[in-house]
Amino acid sequence: MAIQDSPMINHRGPEFAAILKRVTLRLQYFFQTASPVLTFPASGTGGQECAIVNLFSPGDHVVSITIGSFGDRLAKIATTYGLQVTRIEFPWGQAADPATVEARLQEVAPYRGVLLTHNETSTGVTNDVQALAALIRRHNANALIVVDAVSSLGSIPLEMDLWDIDVVFTGSQKGWMTPPGIMMIAASQRAWEANKTAKLPRFYFDWASARKKLEVWQHPTTPPVSLFYALDVALEMMLAEGREAFFERHQRAGEYVRSRAKAMGLQLLANHERASNTVTAILTPEGIDTKALLKKLREQDSVVLAGGQDRLEGKIFRVGHLGFFSEADLAHTMDRVEARLHELGFKG
Ligand SMILES: *Cc1c(COP(=O)(O)O)cnc(C)c1O
Repeated sequence: MAIQDSPMINHRGPEFAAILKRVTLRLQYFFQTASPVLTFPASGTGGQECAIVNLFSPGDHVVSITIGSFGDRLAKIATTYGLQVTRIEFPWGQAADPATVEARLQEVAPYRGVLLTHNETSTGVTNDVQALAALIRRHNANALIVVDAVSSLGSIPLEMDLWDIDVVFTGSQKGWMTPPGIMMIAASQRAWEANKTAKLPRFYFDWASARKKLEVWQHPTTPPVSLFYALDVALEMMLAEGREAFFERHQRAGEYVRSRAKAMGLQLLANHERASNTVTAILTPEGIDTKALLKKLREQDSVVLAGGQDRLEGKIFRVGHLGFFSEADLAHTMDRVEARLHELGFKG
């Protein structure tokens, strides 16, 4: 965005304070929370680490509901910080089944928190966070419910306060039409209480320091000023389009990409009900080399798609439909996918 080339301003001065105030209040609207939304210079993984270090103490027991690579990463960070982690895992491509989660929660020892992913970007699956949060809350009224919404917040409905979620975080480069570099995180009253006694070491990601500075519309450290220019403009655009209209546009995009893939004779990794509206994972057909397909698309069509991560490497390719995109872009992308697959011998 051209706005990023605007002259640098003093991040302790009144112009930046006005931007930070506007951005923060608008983020609260998109997070659907009355809690302050803290911003840190970081990527999405920073959000995962920030949530863990601010809530827990060494040895705390947490339950990790994981349906893919990003859920695994969050569990790994918890383990790295000395938490005791019980995993409830589902096969990659499936959403967390609420009945299974409920049954497993009855079996596990008392737990302090539950970690889960809203939209698992590695598999193109969206969890039913509303149902999951409700059943966790029924089982444990004091559980700290942490939701990684890096690739969904703003684009797929998530109501932090109404669903009684304790921590939600996201990253500027996913649904926010902004380059990477701003991580945004909000905490419930329950989470702020937990923060007072949480003993894990933290400095850069400390919520209390960030909140204190936010009272005067500043950050404890130097913020990425040019990214804030961009995020400010992006939020303005999102508000102009309307929060619900923005959700609907992503839903249409998801439906369009899924229907095009099916019409070509391709199979989707996710089942219909929980397929993501920000990223679609498509199984690479038998006999086609995923790397060769992605290379052709990138070099000959300037269409950049992602492959699979970890155990899905070589097995799927993923079409993103979040942030800046138009319906025409998606049509072009799917046209090129179809043409290149046929060139590679796919009969469909
Ligand atoms: C992208 C992503 C992350 C990690 O974000 P980085 O910006 O790459 O650190 C974490 N969780 C989810 C669900 C993501 O999509």
